[in-house]
Amino acid sequence: MANSQSTPALDLSVVIPIYNEVENVAELHARLHAVLDNLGRSFEIIAVDDGSTDGTGDALKSLAAGDPHLKVVRFRRNFGQTAGFAAGFDLARGRTVITIDADLQNDPADIPLLLDKMAEGYDVVSGWRLHRQDPFISRRLPSMIANRLISWVTGVFLHDYGCSLKAYDWNVVKNVRLYGELHRFVPALASWMGVRVAEIPVQHYPRQRGKSKYGISRTIRVILDLLTVRFLLSYSARPMQLFGLLGLGAFGGGFVIAAYLTVIKLAFKQSIGNRPLLLLGILLIMVGIQLLTMGLLGELVVRTYHETQDKPIYVIREIIEGENQAHKEG
Ligand code: UDP
Ligand code: MG
Repeated sequence: MANSQSTPALDLSVVIPIYNEVENVAELHARLHAVLDNLGRSFEIIAVDDGSTDGTGDALKSLAAGDPHLKVVRFRRNFGQTAGFAAGFDLARGRTVITIDADLQNDPADIPLLLDKMAEGYDVVSGWRLHRQDPFISRRLPSMIANRLISWVTGVFLHDYGCSLKAYDWNVVKNVRLYGELHRFVPALASWMGVRVAEIPVQHYPRQRGKSKYGISRTIRVILDLLTVRFLLSYSARPMQLFGLLGLGAFGGGFVIAAYLTVIKLAFKQSIGNRPLLLLGILLIMVGIQLLTMGLLGELVVRTYHETQDKPIYVIREIIEGENQAHKEG
C-alpha cells in the first residue's frame, strides 16, 4: 500500500495534539498511564506540542525524561489541531491508533471501550459525547446541525464527528492525508477506502483548566471543508465527470438559446441585439466551455497527484495467493 510504512511495531499509539495546556499535561499523562499500563499491550503516547507558548513543551519534555512510552513532537509554531493529528499519524507505530484531546474533556478511561469495539472488527470507532458539556448555542447546536449535514453529505452516519476520542486501525491513519481542518472528517474520508465504522458513547466533562481554542467561527470552516470532502469522496479520481457534466449542461443550454436566437434573426428578421436572452446564451456557452476545460485540467491534476505520490486509486484489504498463503496488507 502506497502510504503505509512497513508494519506496526506496537499494539497501540495514543496521539494527542496539545496547544497551551500546561495545567493539564501532568494529570493527562498520569491518567493515560493509569489506563494504558493495565491493558497488557505495548503502547506509545505521542504528544504533539502544537507550538505552545505557555510552557507546555517543557512540561512534556520533563515528563518524557521519566517515561520511555512518551514521545514528544514539538512543532516550530502553531500549525493547528489537524496538523497535530497528521504528525501523530505519520509517526504512529501502533496497530490501533487512539486520538484524544489534551484538556481532559475526554476520559482516558474510555480507551478500553474503544479497543473492545475495535476488536469486533471495526476500522474506525468514534466516540459519541452523549452528554456533551459545552455551551448549547455556541457549540452544541451548531455541532448538531453540522453532524446531520456531514452524515447526510458523506453517507457516513455519526452523531458526533467533532469528538476527538476515536480509534483507528493502522491502515486508516497511514492512508488518510489531512489538510486544512479535515481531522474531524477522517471517518468520512476513510470511507473511501472501505472501512467499517462504529460509534460508542463516551464520557465528556466541562473544561476544568485552560481555555477552549475554538469559537463559533469554526462552523463556517467545517462547512467549507465538507465541500472538499464531498468532492474528494465522489469525484477526486474523475473530475471530468463532475465539471464535464455541469459544463455540458451549461453549454447545451447556451447552444439551444443561441440557435433559437439565430433562427428568429435569420428566418424571421427580428432584432435580437437587445434581448437579455442573448446575454444568457453567451454566458452559458462561455461558462460551459470553462467548466469543460476545468474538468480536463482536473484530470491532469489527478494524474499528477496519484502518480507523483505513487498513490493508487484503490486500497487493498488483503491478497490471497493459492495454497493458503494469505498476505495481509499493512
Ligand atoms: N489544539 C491544538 N492546536 C490548536 C488548537 C487546539 O493542538 O491550534 C488541541 C488542544 O490543546 C486540545 C484539542 O486540540 O487538546 C482540542 O482543543 P479544544 O479543547 O480547545 O477544543 P474544544 O474541545 O473546545 O472543541
Ligand atoms: Mg476541549
